[in-house]
Amino acid sequence: MTVTPLGLFCEPGGFYIDPSRPVDRAVVSHGHADHARPGHRAVLATPDTLAIMRARFGEDRAGDVQQPLGYGESVTVNGVRITLLPAGHVLGSAQVALEWRGSRIVVSGDYKRRRDPTCAGFEVMECDVFVTEATFALPVFRHPPDSHEIRRLLDSVALFPERAHVVGAYALGKTQRIIALLREAGWDRPVYLHGAVEKLCTLYESLGVPLGDLRPVPKGLKRGHPPILAGEIVLAPPSAEATPWARRLADPVTCAASGWMTVRQRAKLRGVELPLIVSDHADWDELLETIEEVRAPEIWVTHGRDDALVHALSLRGIRGRALHLVGRGDEEDEGAPEAPSTEEEADKARGAH
Ligand SMILES: [Zn+2]
Ligand SMILES: [Zn+2]
Repeated sequence: MTVTPLGLFCEPGGFYIDPSRPVDRAVVSHGHADHARPGHRAVLATPDTLAIMRARFGEDRAGDVQQPLGYGESVTVNGVRITLLPAGHVLGSAQVALEWRGSRIVVSGDYKRRRDPTCAGFEVMECDVFVTEATFALPVFRHPPDSHEIRRLLDSVALFPERAHVVGAYALGKTQRIIALLREAGWDRPVYLHGAVEKLCTLYESLGVPLGDLRPVPKGLKRGHPPILAGEIVLAPPSAEATPWARRLADPVTCAASGWMTVRQRAKLRGVELPLIVSDHADWDELLETIEEVRAPEIWVTHGRDDALVHALSLRGIRGRALHLVGRGDEEDEGAPEAPSTEEEADKARGAH
């Protein structure tokens, strides 16, 4: 396995994992844009990830040859045995286990350990090298229980019935998880959707994840129309909250669902009134717990707070290596756009507790 400008390359197998540009053979861990790219020739992924790629890129851009591989199934490519295991991150997300000449590498993609009603839970596989993300690899990041955060949202809705609550959430994964968690908490009213999150909700439902009564936020209202959706919950991409789109809503309470909401400074900067700490990435404890469970003597860290994690590993006698993969955590994932990029910001994060 080598690190190339395009990402991780399995030399004996002749394929890349989550390459950043079109390649001949790609194994794709999940559908987020920093892992799944259009235009590969051959793509191996779970059936759900392939469906997500087709929905996002179109049939003709999601890979000329699409090879579905279910969880727990294996296929051998040029002598390298590939097995996909649930990563618990979003629907279809997989860890990629590679076995060659008696040793095993597990590339986890993005992952979390807590239960998510919209996708299969993370499965531990022991290995010789474990490749991990480190998005929230600082001790300050300890995500509270999801039910606690959903309760805060519902309490606010009860407290401000004259206002609309707009939850900013990424279109793939987070949006559907928030809706499913609301349903579990007993919210059976319609949930309203911004146009940008509709398509993937429909896809999730067609792939067997029920989300209840979903409705589009009404469009084309006449000038002077009274504000709409008081007392209701609206899901929208994080960027939509600050646009004219939000003006049609009744005195909207802006909520954001992200692991970054631990950093109060960040919530304030974005004008988030009700920050909800709901993350699709492992927090500090989950990262360390996972690394302990996979019992790998060597850990490779793809992106995120690799310095803090590698240091914590060295204290435990585990060899850590920062890969500095470029382009990870971009766009819609919780990774980089909001990630603390400087030490100063990380210090603020620490100070937030
Ligand atoms: Zn992701
Ligand atoms: Zn990612």
